[in-house]
Amino acid sequence: MAYELAPLPYAYNALEPHIDEATMKLHHDKHHQTYVTNLNAAIDKHPELAAKSPEDLIRHLSAIPEDIRKIVQNSGGGHVNHTIFWQLMKPAGGGDPKGAIAAQIKADFGDFESFKKLFNETTAKQFGSGWGWLIFQAGKLKIVTTSNQDTPLSEGLYPILCNDVWEHAYYLKYQNRRADYLAAWWNVVNWDEINKRFATAQAK
Ligand code: MN
Repeated sequence: MAYELAPLPYAYNALEPHIDEATMKLHHDKHHQTYVTNLNAAIDKHPELAAKSPEDLIRHLSAIPEDIRKIVQNSGGGHVNHTIFWQLMKPAGGGDPKGAIAAQIKADFGDFESFKKLFNETTAKQFGSGWGWLIFQAGKLKIVTTSNQDTPLSEGLYPILCNDVWEHAYYLKYQNRRADYLAAWWNVVNWDEINKRFATAQAK
């Protein structure tokens, strides 16, 4: 197997009550695992690609052989996006942003509440399955969305923060109330990891 699913960096129930244990189990062990399994099946057909990191694959999709390009885009994207996503959350997370990202949010959005509102509204409006992202481009933070498992990495960008708005991320607990899920998610956000990613984005 070229790629493996890493265990969650915390217990399945660690993000309760905001994200429930059943959702985390299904999301990590079934959905994320399926992306990894399908990516490995595609790479089996082109074993020379197995030396590349999953990030490398989706950063350079045009270099992927056409017969597996769409699978790599979807399943490779799914693997990379979820790997980032798990790290962006932690038990007893949340609160106001800290460090360099706090200052940049203030500079680009006015204050944290305005940023959060814009991120939640933008992401809530993503039609169908996809992701909301915070990226850093030309010295400014920007909020964007992608469909399916598409990622800003494929556009040469380094995402700082993301939230998953596929129904599998919230439907068991929040049903159709995507906005409630988005609002609750900030209670588990991991600002240390976000600052780490922001530092990497600034260095690029
Ligand atoms: Mn997901």
